Amino acid sequence: MEDYKALPVLVVDDEPFILNVLRHMLGQLGFEAITTAGSGEEALQILNAGELPQLILLDINMPSIDGVEFIRALVTLGYPGSLVLVSGESERALSAVMRLADVRGINVLGYLKKPVAPDALGELLATLSTRTLPSLSPSKASTYEPDILQTAIASGELVNYFQPKVNVQTGAFEGVEVLVRWLHPRDGLVYPDDFIPLAEDNGLIQALTMNVLCNTFRQLRLWQDSGLTVKAAINISMDDLNSLSFPDDLAKMAKDSGVSTHDIQLEVTERQLIPNLATVLDTLSRLHLKRIALAVDDFGTGYSSLAQLSDLPFDQLKIDKRFVHGASGNPTAQAIFIASTDIANQLAMETVAEGVEDRADWDWLQQMGCDVAQGYFIARPMPAEALPEWLEHWRQRVHAEDLLSSPTGPD
Ligand code: C2E
Ligand code: CA
Ligand code: CA
Repeated sequence: MEDYKALPVLVVDDEPFILNVLRHMLGQLGFEAITTAGSGEEALQILNAGELPQLILLDINMPSIDGVEFIRALVTLGYPGSLVLVSGESERALSAVMRLADVRGINVLGYLKKPVAPDALGELLATLSTRTLPSLSPSKASTYEPDILQTAIASGELVNYFQPKVNVQTGAFEGVEVLVRWLHPRDGLVYPDDFIPLAEDNGLIQALTMNVLCNTFRQLRLWQDSGLTVKAAINISMDDLNSLSFPDDLAKMAKDSGVSTHDIQLEVTERQLIPNLATVLDTLSRLHLKRIALAVDDFGTGYSSLAQLSDLPFDQLKIDKRFVHGASGNPTAQAIFIASTDIANQLAMETVAEGVEDRADWDWLQQMGCDVAQGYFIARPMPAEALPEWLEHWRQRVHAEDLLSSPTGPD
């Protein structure tokens, strides 16, 4: 089987000479679709632009984005292909990075020491043919047609679920995150990962966001009328921020439903934010002026620097679940978590830890002095009707399970 040689390959190395050598060697081995990138940033741009390669040759020592960070990005992108690590480092350093990639679920073919010998490269890549090749288009979203989704939005098949957030030090209820679901007539409850990308790619996301917002305001008003004031965080996409009328539309919706804009927060994922900094600054600033709180979502999965973040009017940093769940026993996750909370503190932002799944996560967050937590340990996303009962149950549970007395205790 020689058809693995038709697979698209990406070579990433900061030394132009090495890039040329590797490209040449790959060509000699019969590979045809070879792309090269002279830095981690350039490679990420290529990956973010769409087509994922099926094989990446990665130099692990690059000046700005190093191999470890790059692997983190591959995990985030759901990279389905194989990875070969290339480095002049000692075998020990290489094998440590290799283990890391492996733990994160990336298929590592092996590593090559510089200077790379053509035979070694050939042997390693030959193992590609014996492995089951991942499908070239892993897109799951394509199971639904855009016009079906469009009709579903218009006919009210999208429903909001709500996941509570609580204060880690006091146990207080802080509000909810709104998570949309599609109540599909045939398939039942469909999760956002199966239709948000579809909406984003087909110009439907603004209609979807307006639908989610409208339902949220209606629900907040209902809760308010029953004596329960709830703050809600809504996930928005880049296209929403590109619309200049978005802040005004939002403010009007709030006013019309008799809900204060103080009770609304918007979440934007770090990964969408940074590549679009210039475009979104305008809209974000105007939202901020309208006192609508803003949160950076999935923090730790993108590449914001302190300088980039400090330019933006964010109130909250939501640390991604992969650096929260199990962090107490995972030094890498811990390091990223601590660095993230440091950034938040320096910029006077509140931190929210996502993915709090068990008591160990909860206790650890208390010791870390984290502000707010969200996750299955506290509650799964639920329909609106279930919230008041959960709240009552939570208040009892805080005492029954002694949730506020961590080993070091709150200060
Ligand atoms: P997200 O904003 O990161 O939302 C958190 C996701 O983590 C939710 O998945 C939630 O159910 C899940 N989760 C909560 N607690 C835990 C936990 O303890 N452990 C684990 N493993 N997972 C937990 P969900 O509801 O499937 O949503 C997936 C993503 O879809 C969201 O990720 C968000 O980016 C997007 N999304 C959801 N609703 C909307 C929406 O109305 N508009 C837009 N644009 N995106 C949305
Ligand atoms: Ca979110
Ligand atoms: Ca998140």
